[in-house]
Amino acid sequence: MTQTTPESESAAPTARRPLVELQNVNKHFGSFQALTDIDLTIPEGQVAIVIGPSGSGKSTLCRTINRLETIDEGGRILIDGKVLPEEGRALATLRAEVGMVFQSFNLFAHKSILENVTVGPIKVKGIKKAQAEKEAMELLERVGVAQQAKKMPAQLSGGQQQRVAIARALAMKPKVMLFDEPTSALDPEMVQEVLDVMVQLAREGMTMVVVTHEMGFARKAGDRVIFMDAGRVLEDTDPESFFTAPQHERAKNFLGKIL
Ligand code: ADP
Ligand code: MG
Repeated sequence: MTQTTPESESAAPTARRPLVELQNVNKHFGSFQALTDIDLTIPEGQVAIVIGPSGSGKSTLCRTINRLETIDEGGRILIDGKVLPEEGRALATLRAEVGMVFQSFNLFAHKSILENVTVGPIKVKGIKKAQAEKEAMELLERVGVAQQAKKMPAQLSGGQQQRVAIARALAMKPKVMLFDEPTSALDPEMVQEVLDVMVQLAREGMTMVVVTHEMGFARKAGDRVIFMDAGRVLEDTDPESFFTAPQHERAKNFLGKIL
Protein backbone atom coordinates (compact mmCIF):
# COMPACT_ATOMS: atom_id res chain seq x y z
CA MET A 1 0.00 0.00 0.00
CA THR A 2 2.92 2.33 -0.49
CA GLN A 3 2.75 3.15 -4.15
CA THR A 4 0.01 5.67 -4.80
CA THR A 5 0.46 6.45 -8.47
CA PRO A 6 -3.02 6.07 -9.94
CA GLU A 7 -2.26 3.91 -12.95
CA SER A 8 -5.89 4.02 -13.87
CA GLU A 9 -5.84 7.67 -14.77
CA SER A 10 -3.80 7.01 -17.88
CA ALA A 11 -5.81 5.44 -20.66
CA ALA A 12 -3.00 5.74 -23.18
CA PRO A 13 -1.55 2.54 -24.55
CA THR A 14 2.06 2.41 -23.55
CA ALA A 15 5.32 0.72 -24.25
CA ARG A 16 5.07 -1.15 -20.97
CA ARG A 17 5.99 -4.79 -21.22
CA PRO A 18 3.21 -7.12 -22.28
CA LEU A 19 2.22 -9.37 -19.38
CA VAL A 20 -0.57 -11.30 -21.02
CA GLU A 21 -0.67 -11.98 -24.74
CA LEU A 22 -3.35 -13.92 -26.55
CA GLN A 23 -2.50 -14.67 -30.15
CA ASN A 24 -5.10 -16.12 -32.45
CA VAL A 25 -6.91 -17.82 -29.60
CA ASN A 26 -9.83 -20.03 -30.58
CA LYS A 27 -11.73 -22.36 -28.31
CA HIS A 28 -14.23 -25.05 -29.25
CA PHE A 29 -16.39 -27.12 -26.96
CA GLY A 30 -17.16 -29.93 -29.40
CA SER A 31 -18.60 -28.23 -32.45
CA PHE A 32 -19.52 -25.06 -30.52
CA GLN A 33 -17.04 -22.24 -30.87
CA ALA A 34 -16.81 -20.29 -27.61
CA LEU A 35 -13.89 -18.02 -28.58
CA THR A 36 -13.06 -16.82 -32.09
CA ASP A 37 -9.78 -15.22 -33.19
CA ILE A 38 -8.92 -13.46 -29.96
CA ASP A 39 -5.82 -11.27 -30.13
CA LEU A 40 -5.19 -9.27 -27.00
CA THR A 41 -2.17 -7.81 -25.28
CA ILE A 42 -2.41 -6.64 -21.69
CA PRO A 43 0.58 -4.54 -20.68
CA GLU A 44 1.98 -4.44 -17.17
CA GLY A 45 -0.10 -2.30 -14.84
CA GLN A 46 -3.17 -2.21 -17.03
CA VAL A 47 -6.67 -2.80 -15.70
CA ALA A 48 -8.70 -4.34 -18.51
CA ILE A 49 -12.45 -4.60 -17.99
CA VAL A 50 -14.16 -7.42 -19.90
CA ILE A 51 -17.82 -6.89 -20.45
CA GLY A 52 -20.51 -8.55 -22.54
CA PRO A 53 -23.74 -10.52 -22.49
CA SER A 54 -24.11 -13.84 -20.73
CA GLY A 55 -22.59 -16.61 -22.83
CA SER A 56 -20.30 -14.28 -24.78
CA GLY A 57 -17.17 -16.12 -23.63
CA LYS A 58 -15.89 -13.94 -20.80
CA SER A 59 -15.36 -16.78 -18.33
CA THR A 60 -13.90 -18.98 -21.02
CA LEU A 61 -11.43 -16.21 -21.84
CA CYS A 62 -10.33 -16.02 -18.19
CA ARG A 63 -10.12 -19.76 -17.91
CA THR A 64 -7.95 -20.09 -21.00
CA ILE A 65 -5.57 -17.41 -19.70
CA ASN A 66 -5.14 -19.54 -16.60
CA ARG A 67 -5.06 -22.83 -18.56
CA LEU A 68 -8.12 -24.10 -16.76
CA GLU A 69 -9.21 -24.64 -20.37
CA THR A 70 -6.99 -25.65 -23.24
CA ILE A 71 -7.19 -23.70 -26.49
CA ASP A 72 -7.45 -24.90 -30.08
CA GLU A 73 -4.25 -25.66 -31.94
CA GLY A 74 -2.61 -22.73 -33.66
CA GLY A 75 -3.23 -20.19 -30.94
CA ARG A 76 -0.85 -19.10 -28.21
CA ILE A 77 -1.07 -17.55 -24.78
CA LEU A 78 1.99 -15.94 -23.23
CA ILE A 79 2.40 -14.82 -19.65
CA ASP A 80 5.20 -12.32 -19.26
CA GLY A 81 6.66 -13.46 -22.55
CA LYS A 82 6.51 -17.18 -21.82
CA VAL A 83 4.18 -19.59 -23.58
CA LEU A 84 1.84 -21.35 -21.19
CA PRO A 85 2.94 -24.97 -21.07
CA GLU A 86 0.40 -27.74 -21.49
CA GLU A 87 0.88 -29.42 -18.14
CA GLY A 88 3.20 -30.47 -15.36
CA ARG A 89 5.41 -28.53 -13.03
CA ALA A 90 6.09 -25.75 -15.53
CA LEU A 91 2.37 -25.15 -15.80
CA ALA A 92 1.98 -24.98 -12.00
CA THR A 93 4.78 -22.43 -11.84
CA LEU A 94 3.39 -20.25 -14.60
CA ARG A 95 -0.12 -20.57 -13.28
CA ALA A 96 1.09 -19.24 -9.94
CA GLU A 97 1.86 -16.04 -11.81
CA VAL A 98 -1.81 -15.66 -12.66
CA GLY A 99 -4.12 -15.18 -9.69
CA MET A 100 -7.78 -15.90 -10.18
CA VAL A 101 -10.84 -14.81 -8.24
CA PHE A 102 -14.15 -16.41 -9.13
CA GLN A 103 -17.76 -15.41 -8.72
CA SER A 104 -18.27 -18.12 -6.11
CA PHE A 105 -15.48 -17.52 -3.67
CA ASN A 106 -14.22 -21.11 -3.77
CA LEU A 107 -12.49 -21.04 -0.41
CA PHE A 108 -11.48 -24.38 1.08
CA ALA A 109 -14.42 -24.98 3.40
CA HIS A 110 -12.52 -27.16 5.87
CA LYS A 111 -9.55 -24.85 6.29
CA SER A 112 -9.38 -21.72 8.41
CA ILE A 113 -9.12 -18.32 6.75
CA LEU A 114 -5.42 -18.21 7.54
CA GLU A 115 -4.84 -21.70 6.14
CA ASN A 116 -6.74 -20.78 2.99
CA VAL A 117 -4.15 -18.09 2.36
CA THR A 118 -1.05 -20.06 3.38
CA VAL A 119 -1.72 -23.38 1.68
CA GLY A 120 -0.65 -22.25 -1.80
CA PRO A 121 2.63 -20.61 -0.77
CA ILE A 122 3.49 -23.60 1.44
CA LYS A 123 2.51 -26.39 -0.97
CA VAL A 124 3.30 -24.85 -4.35
CA LYS A 125 6.12 -22.48 -3.53
CA GLY A 126 7.74 -24.31 -0.63
CA ILE A 127 7.56 -21.28 1.69
CA LYS A 128 8.11 -22.08 5.39
CA LYS A 129 4.93 -22.08 7.45
CA ALA A 130 5.94 -19.22 9.76
CA GLN A 131 6.88 -17.00 6.84
CA ALA A 132 3.73 -17.91 4.94
CA GLU A 133 1.62 -17.04 7.99
CA LYS A 134 3.34 -13.72 8.46
CA GLU A 135 2.73 -12.76 4.84
CA ALA A 136 -0.83 -14.07 4.98
CA MET A 137 -1.63 -11.93 8.01
CA GLU A 138 -0.31 -8.87 6.19
CA LEU A 139 -2.53 -9.66 3.24
CA LEU A 140 -5.57 -10.28 5.44
CA GLU A 141 -4.85 -6.94 7.06
CA ARG A 142 -4.75 -5.29 3.65
CA VAL A 143 -8.14 -6.65 2.66
CA GLY A 144 -9.58 -5.89 6.10
CA VAL A 145 -10.26 -9.37 7.47
CA ALA A 146 -7.27 -10.01 9.74
CA GLN A 147 -9.62 -10.29 12.72
CA GLN A 148 -11.21 -13.34 11.10
CA ALA A 149 -7.99 -15.30 10.51
CA LYS A 150 -8.86 -18.19 12.83
CA LYS A 151 -12.45 -18.58 11.64
CA MET A 152 -13.79 -20.97 9.03
CA PRO A 153 -15.09 -19.63 5.71
CA ALA A 154 -18.75 -20.35 6.54
CA GLN A 155 -18.49 -18.00 9.52
CA LEU A 156 -17.74 -15.05 7.25
CA SER A 157 -20.05 -12.94 5.13
CA GLY A 158 -19.86 -13.25 1.36
CA GLY A 159 -18.01 -9.97 1.07
CA GLN A 160 -15.45 -11.07 3.65
CA GLN A 161 -15.02 -14.44 1.94
CA GLN A 162 -14.41 -12.78 -1.39
CA ARG A 163 -11.80 -10.50 0.18
CA VAL A 164 -10.12 -13.61 1.60
CA ALA A 165 -10.18 -15.12 -1.89
CA ILE A 166 -8.37 -12.02 -3.16
CA ALA A 167 -5.80 -12.32 -0.36
CA ARG A 168 -5.35 -15.99 -1.17
CA ALA A 169 -4.64 -15.21 -4.81
CA LEU A 170 -2.26 -12.40 -3.88
CA ALA A 171 -0.34 -14.71 -1.53
CA MET A 172 1.12 -16.43 -4.60
CA LYS A 173 2.57 -13.08 -5.68
CA PRO A 174 0.97 -13.22 -9.11
CA LYS A 175 2.02 -10.95 -11.94
CA VAL A 176 -1.56 -10.61 -13.10
CA MET A 177 -4.93 -11.03 -11.40
CA LEU A 178 -8.03 -12.31 -13.17
CA PHE A 179 -11.42 -11.54 -11.65
CA ASP A 180 -14.46 -13.29 -13.08
CA GLU A 181 -17.57 -11.41 -11.92
CA PRO A 182 -16.19 -11.17 -8.38
CA THR A 183 -19.18 -9.28 -6.99
CA SER A 184 -22.12 -10.76 -8.84
CA ALA A 185 -22.86 -13.41 -6.21
CA LEU A 186 -22.75 -10.91 -3.37
CA ASP A 187 -25.56 -9.19 -1.53
CA PRO A 188 -25.68 -5.58 -2.73
CA GLU A 189 -24.39 -4.12 0.52
CA MET A 190 -21.20 -6.17 0.22
CA VAL A 191 -20.31 -5.28 -3.34
CA GLN A 192 -18.54 -2.05 -2.50
CA GLU A 193 -16.19 -3.49 0.10
CA VAL A 194 -14.86 -5.93 -2.49
CA LEU A 195 -14.64 -3.29 -5.22
CA ASP A 196 -12.73 -1.03 -2.81
CA VAL A 197 -10.07 -3.70 -2.39
CA MET A 198 -9.85 -4.07 -6.17
CA VAL A 199 -9.57 -0.32 -6.70
CA GLN A 200 -6.74 -0.25 -4.19
CA LEU A 201 -4.97 -3.09 -6.01
CA ALA A 202 -5.36 -1.24 -9.29
CA ARG A 203 -3.88 1.90 -7.75
CA GLU A 204 -0.89 -0.08 -6.56
CA GLY A 205 -0.21 -0.98 -10.17
CA MET A 206 -1.44 -4.58 -10.30
CA THR A 207 -2.13 -5.84 -13.80
CA MET A 208 -5.76 -6.93 -13.80
CA VAL A 209 -8.31 -8.50 -16.12
CA VAL A 210 -11.73 -7.94 -14.59
CA VAL A 211 -14.98 -9.38 -15.88
CA THR A 212 -17.59 -7.12 -14.36
CA HIS A 213 -20.68 -5.13 -15.10
CA GLU A 214 -19.93 -2.65 -12.34
CA MET A 215 -19.78 0.56 -14.34
CA GLY A 216 -18.59 2.64 -11.40
CA PHE A 217 -15.60 0.36 -10.96
CA ALA A 218 -14.91 0.24 -14.69
CA ARG A 219 -14.85 4.02 -14.90
CA LYS A 220 -12.87 4.51 -11.71
CA ALA A 221 -10.24 1.81 -12.06
CA GLY A 222 -10.41 0.60 -15.66
CA ASP A 223 -7.90 1.63 -18.30
CA ARG A 224 -9.64 -0.27 -21.04
CA VAL A 225 -12.95 -1.93 -21.86
CA ILE A 226 -13.06 -5.09 -23.94
CA PHE A 227 -16.60 -5.80 -25.11
CA MET A 228 -17.27 -9.40 -26.08
CA ASP A 229 -20.17 -10.84 -27.96
CA ALA A 230 -20.61 -14.42 -29.20
CA GLY A 231 -16.99 -15.31 -28.55
CA ARG A 232 -15.45 -12.31 -30.30
CA VAL A 233 -13.98 -9.03 -29.15
CA LEU A 234 -16.27 -6.44 -30.73
CA GLU A 235 -14.92 -3.30 -29.09
CA ASP A 236 -11.67 -2.53 -27.35
CA THR A 237 -11.44 1.03 -26.14
CA ASP A 238 -11.17 3.26 -23.08
CA PRO A 239 -14.02 3.18 -20.53
CA GLU A 240 -15.26 6.69 -21.20
CA SER A 241 -15.58 6.11 -24.95
CA PHE A 242 -17.24 2.78 -24.41
CA PHE A 243 -19.85 3.98 -21.96
CA THR A 244 -20.62 7.26 -23.70
CA ALA A 245 -20.25 6.27 -27.35
CA PRO A 246 -20.35 2.51 -27.98
CA GLN A 247 -19.78 1.75 -31.65
CA HIS A 248 -21.60 -1.52 -32.27
CA GLU A 249 -25.33 -2.07 -32.14
CA ARG A 250 -24.77 -5.02 -29.83
CA ALA A 251 -22.76 -2.92 -27.43
CA LYS A 252 -25.46 -0.25 -27.46
CA ASN A 253 -28.13 -2.87 -26.81
CA PHE A 254 -26.13 -4.38 -24.02
CA LEU A 255 -25.49 -1.05 -22.33
CA GLY A 256 -29.16 -0.19 -22.69
CA LYS A 257 -29.95 -3.27 -20.62
CA ILE A 258 -27.48 -2.80 -17.81
CA LEU A 259 -27.40 0.97 -17.30
P1 ADP B 1 -19.83 -15.82 -20.13
O1 ADP B 1 -18.84 -15.96 -19.03
O2 ADP B 1 -19.57 -14.64 -21.01
O3 ADP B 1 -21.24 -15.82 -19.65
P2 ADP B 1 -18.87 -18.44 -20.89
O4 ADP B 1 -17.44 -18.22 -21.22
O5 ADP B 1 -19.18 -19.04 -19.57
O6 ADP B 1 -19.69 -17.08 -21.08
O7 ADP B 1 -19.52 -19.36 -21.98
C1 ADP B 1 -19.44 -19.07 -23.36
C2 ADP B 1 -20.16 -20.13 -24.12
O8 ADP B 1 -19.43 -21.35 -24.03
C3 ADP B 1 -21.57 -20.41 -23.61
O9 ADP B 1 -22.42 -20.64 -24.69
C4 ADP B 1 -21.37 -21.66 -22.79
O10 ADP B 1 -22.54 -22.42 -22.77
C5 ADP B 1 -20.27 -22.37 -23.52
N1 ADP B 1 -19.45 -23.20 -22.61
C6 ADP B 1 -18.71 -22.76 -21.58
N2 ADP B 1 -18.07 -23.77 -20.96
C7 ADP B 1 -18.46 -24.89 -21.61
C8 ADP B 1 -18.15 -26.28 -21.46
N3 ADP B 1 -17.32 -26.72 -20.50
N4 ADP B 1 -18.73 -27.14 -22.32
C9 ADP B 1 -19.56 -26.72 -23.29
N5 ADP B 1 -19.89 -25.44 -23.50
C10 ADP B 1 -19.35 -24.53 -22.67
MG1 MG C 1 -19.10 -15.99 -16.97
